[in-house]
Formats: sequence, C-alpha cells, structure tokens
Amino acid sequence: MEAVVLLGPPGAGKGTVATVLAENGYRHVSTGELLREQIRLQTPLGREAGQLMAEGKFVSDAVVVGMIRGMLEPSATGTRVLFDGFPRTLVQAEQLDDLFTILGGSLSAVVLLECPDEVIVERLSGRRTCQKCGAVYHLKYNPALSGERCDSDGSELEQRLDDRAETIRERLKVYAEQTAPLVDYYRKKGLVRAVDATQSIDNVRHAVMELLG
Ligand code: ADP
Ligand code: AMP
Repeated sequence: MEAVVLLGPPGAGKGTVATVLAENGYRHVSTGELLREQIRLQTPLGREAGQLMAEGKFVSDAVVVGMIRGMLEPSATGTRVLFDGFPRTLVQAEQLDDLFTILGGSLSAVVLLECPDEVIVERLSGRRTCQKCGAVYHLKYNPALSGERCDSDGSELEQRLDDRAETIRERLKVYAEQTAPLVDYYRKKGLVRAVDATQSIDNVRHAVMELLG
C-alpha cells in the first residue's frame, strides 16, 4: 500500500481535490465523511462524535485511528490510498506510521494546501453539502446546476452544522494548535509538497495532479 496525505486547514479544499484523485485511481479515505456516515446511521459512535464535531472539536485519536485500521486491513496490498482529514494530531501521525510498519505500506507524499484564514472563512460559510451522498458545493465558487439540489442524486443541499461562523473560528484554532505541527513532523521526513490553495478549483486540482505525477 502506498499513501498520500492531504493536509491543510478546514476549508482549504482537501475534499474538492480528493474527488479528482479518486477518479485517478486513489482510494479516498475521509475521516470526516466516515464520521458523518455514523451520524446519518445514528450509531452510538455517531451520536458521540456528532456532538464534538458540531462544536468544532476533534473526535478522540483512539476512535479515529480505530476506523482507519479497520479500513486499511482488508485492502493492504497494491492500493493507493488518499487520506483526507487524517492524520490531524501528532498521535494520529505516529500511529499511522505504526500501521504502515504492521501492514507493509508507506507514505509517498504529504500535499499541503496552503490557505489564509480569511479565504477559509469565505469558503466554509458558502459551502453546501448533499445530505445524502456528501457531495460538496459552494454557493459562489462551485454552485450546483439547479441551485439547491445535488447534481448527482437530486437530494437537498444543506449547510454543515460546523460551518457556522462561531464554529469555524473554533476549528481554525484547533487546527493551529493540534494539526499545524504535523507540517514540521512531515517536513523532517522530506515528504511535504506545498500548493497554493487560493487558486481556482481547476488550478489547484491541476497543481496537485502534477505533483503526484
Ligand atoms: P476541506 O475538505 O479542506 O474542508 P472542501 O473541499 O470541502 O474543503 O472545500 C471547502 C469549500 O470551498 C467548498 O464549498 C468548496 O466548493 C470550496 N472550494 C474548494 N476549493 C476551492 C478553490 N480552489 N476555490 C474556491 N472555492 C473552493
Ligand atoms: P472534515 O470533514 O475533515 O472537515 O471533518 C469534520 C470533523 O470531523 C472535524 O472537525 C472533527 O470534529 C472530525 N474529524 C474528522 N477527522 C478527524 C480526525 N482525523 N481526528 C479527529 N477528529 C476528526
């Protein structure tokens, strides 16, 4: 197994880039999407995680790493995996390294989407998500063709609870405290490839595709 990590603040465009990489052979693993699936299914994990997520806080390392371990084990060989939103803490990064040792995989690159806070606030407040399939739109930068319904399944679009203004601030704070240190962690391993994520969606996708060759 070979893996790439998409790193960057909430709203930098990780999921938007990931859809293109998924069309090019990567298995897209988004811990946020896996957790939202648990919320939709109303599982005990979904209920616990949903509360933390709505407040802009992280779900525990043990829960998140457990989900990743369960996903990777059945497909350990020959796969190219794209992590979106994972790892988000140093503990998660170290445990991912341990998983690679056990499963025989490695990280080939960490793509860092660089984006200043003011751009992020605009992106997250205009983000709209399909309540059924999780497809991501933006009121201004990537509107659905019909305005209010998902292009692929016609379901209603909604604003995520954690995309409200007060929660966005909390998420940016948590990112700076807990996730930003991963840049140094991976820089020391020579894995970081930075991309200017303030460019248009097409240009960011193109830049990342070029980087990953
Ligand atoms: P992340 O997965 O990093 O949280 P998303 O991919 O969901 O971010 O993008 C956040 C919002 O910004 C979405 O509404 C998306 O349509 C929009 N967006 C993503 N990339 C860009 C870009 N390069 N330019 C403008 N808007 C973008
Ligand atoms: P995302 O869809 O990546 O923006 O994630 C939405 C929310 O899910 C985050 O704000 C966290 O509350 C939670 N979450 C997603 N991934 C992780 C992770 N790796 N570690 C802890 N919490 C996570």
